[in-house]
Amino acid sequence: MMNEFELIEKYFTRSPRRAKLGVGDDCAIIAPASDMELAVTTDTLISGRHFFPFVDPRKLGHKALAVSLSDLAAMGATPRYFTLALSLPKVDEDWLQEFSRGLFNLADSFHCELIGGDTTCGPLSITITAIGELRKPFVLRRDAARAGDDIWISGTLGDAALALRVLNKQAKLPEASFAYVADRLEQPLPRVALGAALRPLAHAAIDISDGLIGDLKHILDRSGVGAEVWLECIPVSEVMSSQPLEVQYECALAGGDDYELCFTARPNNRNEIEAAGKEVGVRLTRVGHISGGEELRLLDKNGQSAQQLLQQMGLQSYDHFA
Ligand code: ADP
Ligand code: MG
Repeated sequence: MMNEFELIEKYFTRSPRRAKLGVGDDCAIIAPASDMELAVTTDTLISGRHFFPFVDPRKLGHKALAVSLSDLAAMGATPRYFTLALSLPKVDEDWLQEFSRGLFNLADSFHCELIGGDTTCGPLSITITAIGELRKPFVLRRDAARAGDDIWISGTLGDAALALRVLNKQAKLPEASFAYVADRLEQPLPRVALGAALRPLAHAAIDISDGLIGDLKHILDRSGVGAEVWLECIPVSEVMSSQPLEVQYECALAGGDDYELCFTARPNNRNEIEAAGKEVGVRLTRVGHISGGEELRLLDKNGQSAQQLLQQMGLQSYDHFA
């Protein structure tokens, strides 16, 4: 059987491009361009918690990197490098072949290079640290929302959560519809080009990984502001819109794994933001605005508070925001 170093050599070693020194020494060496800052983020995916043990390894390789690139996108950073800490129960070459293929396909599409990592024997888990470059002074931080800002969402929300329901046998979908949402769950596309385009246009941004409500709340808390969000405007896919309203709200507001961007920007920038969305080919939807105060208010189409409706639906966690 192949040992640890053969495994690293065969599946995870490529000659460095931008990096001064890549895989193979005690450390990698990188140098940011002179007027750039580095953005650094780490995420761990654990088998049975973040993904099903039987998931297609190629898709897993894609997703493991995608979630980190999504964090870079949310800052407006351009992906450059990543490290990979892999814990494997055994050496399964077919699995490694597919996993590394999915990983490098996505990495290559963003010119993001693997510069090091760690390989251990243990329960399957994947930790990726991604490093991006940011040109000063523009950066999309969670604490930069201002009263009066519009709140925008990229793409559609809730598809991944809907796929999870189907996989957990809590919902049913026709085959083609399931294929669509399963793809959203398993192979999210990080909004890197959008993040970069928004840098001069937006104030605050976050990537939506734990549900819109929870993640928007992070922006509000960090910025010391409140928000009004119009339920009717939350963008959902065609597949999602065929679901009962209750399912739509639960998945789109509190589901996980969307990897879309939620950002705030001055109303003056609406035209430029819409143009930026078109330019990068991503649908952008305005869903509300930042207010003074500190609360997050969800409004129905009559402008009435939707808090009660959501509580009736059993979304008790929304109590926090009532
Ligand atoms: P050390 O003992 O100094 O920590 P390792 O033996 O763990 O070094 O790793 C040897 C080299 O292989 C290092 O350059 C490390 O960054 C790289 N490496 C280890 N595992 C991986 C991996 N899964 N992907 C990419 N590079 C890896
Ligand atoms: Mg090591």
